[in-house]
Amino acid sequence: MARSTDEFRLIDNYFKGLTSQSQVEVGIGDDAAIINSSGDYQTVVASDTLVESVHFPASAQAEQIASRALCVNLSDMAAMGAEPKWFTLALTLPSKKTTDLWLQGFSRGLAKIAKQFNIALIGGDTTAGPLTISITVLGEVPKGQALVRSGAKVGDNIYVSGDLGDGAAALHSIINEAHIGSDSSSRLLERLYCPQPQIELGIGLRDYASACIDISDGLIADLGHICNASGVSAEIDSQQLPIDIEVKQQFKQQSLQWAISGGDDYQLCFSVTAGRHKEFEQWAAACKFAVTKIGNMVAMEDNQSTVRLDGQTISLSTGGYNHFANNT
Ligand code: ADP
Ligand code: MG
Repeated sequence: MARSTDEFRLIDNYFKGLTSQSQVEVGIGDDAAIINSSGDYQTVVASDTLVESVHFPASAQAEQIASRALCVNLSDMAAMGAEPKWFTLALTLPSKKTTDLWLQGFSRGLAKIAKQFNIALIGGDTTAGPLTISITVLGEVPKGQALVRSGAKVGDNIYVSGDLGDGAAALHSIINEAHIGSDSSSRLLERLYCPQPQIELGIGLRDYASACIDISDGLIADLGHICNASGVSAEIDSQQLPIDIEVKQQFKQQSLQWAISGGDDYQLCFSVTAGRHKEFEQWAAACKFAVTKIGNMVAMEDNQSTVRLDGQTISLSTGGYNHFANNT
């Protein structure tokens, strides 16, 4: 459910100008905002909204919706190298969902993830209307150590965590009720409804990454955000993209495309200075983080950031999901 240009133009035109204030270190335009609160830490804030039938199928269960909503928000904390601490919940509920059974399931889903990451629900709002879940997560990072999108340099190695294409494969399977082996389908369901935010990796990357983003809209689109913010271009190799073996076998035609632009993976994409790549890979292996080198940062041509896949330039303005176009 990746997005594309209209939404970013809307944010740039109508909201970006409202971000400046002396305590705002990073405002609109990264995975989360960074605020200079007092002491040795900065506060990191990110919001994400999930709408029924847009961000999750109408058939999803309450527990699944809640865990997905919280995981997706926490993923932005991971992308910043922040440790999540608190969250608020704005819930819009249609009357048919306002049953004890539905709410118990929703609460169970939230509690599972909140407990796993040791975060507390500190407030929110509840209204009636079409099912919409809006969460704001607040986290902390030691001053000056947050990962941002703008630090990549020419020559840096590009890495991703985990496997790519799982989110799109899961969605495809649900929409088409595709039969895949039961182990594999439960793994994919878990990846869609409980996409594990890479918090520990993000925290570790404070020492290594020059730029970082989480992959919500698809690898090309999100790597493109790093390139645009950093003033570099990227070259990636399709052969290196990590794709789960069962997804590869089951979806021979689509898996590579899904890994490139499917979205909903919530893995991290980040750059590491070339001189430190060995040290980084040794550290990642020792910590048992699955990371894969997929390419390199290169210089821009004609002052324009591009992402090249196997030598072919991919347009950064196509391929993403667009909330404000007719996607049906
Ligand atoms: P992500 O995919 O990491 O959640 P988005 O692509 O949704 O980030 O948003 C890009 C940037 O624009 C973020 O910094 C986000 O906080 C900001 N943003 C999005 N919508 C709004 C809005 N309505 N008002 C202000 N800022 C917004
Ligand atoms: Mg993000």
